[in-house]
Amino acid sequence: MTTLHLNPGMIGTVYDVLRGTKPFHRWGLPEAEALTFRVYRSRAERGALERVGEKIILGVSEHSNGHLYSLIETVAHEMVHLRLLSLGMKNWERHGVRFEHLAKAVCAAHGFDPKAF
Ligand SMILES: [Zn+2]
Repeated sequence: MTTLHLNPGMIGTVYDVLRGTKPFHRWGLPEAEALTFRVYRSRAERGALERVGEKIILGVSEHSNGHLYSLIETVAHEMVHLRLLSLGMKNWERHGVRFEHLAKAVCAAHGFDPKAF
């Protein structure tokens, strides 16, 4: 039983709230209006960041995010990918050293479990 009824506006709101907090507020991430937010069904992934031409889509799986806490954590995770993408990193979709470094700062600031992030 899920307590969330996810919709794209809700994802954008969470994005905006996080964008104003440490460490995101120093990353120069685009405003929510510049992104597309999407709810999708996937059991394999909690969230996804896609680039389709000039469009950046931040998606959250309604199958894997039943609570507000999960939604916040998932959006934060995708925002790390977004940071790598905006830095022009080739491997922005990967969980490499740069990802881990940024993720560590996010987890420390927000109390997420780095092993589950
Ligand atoms: Zn990821």
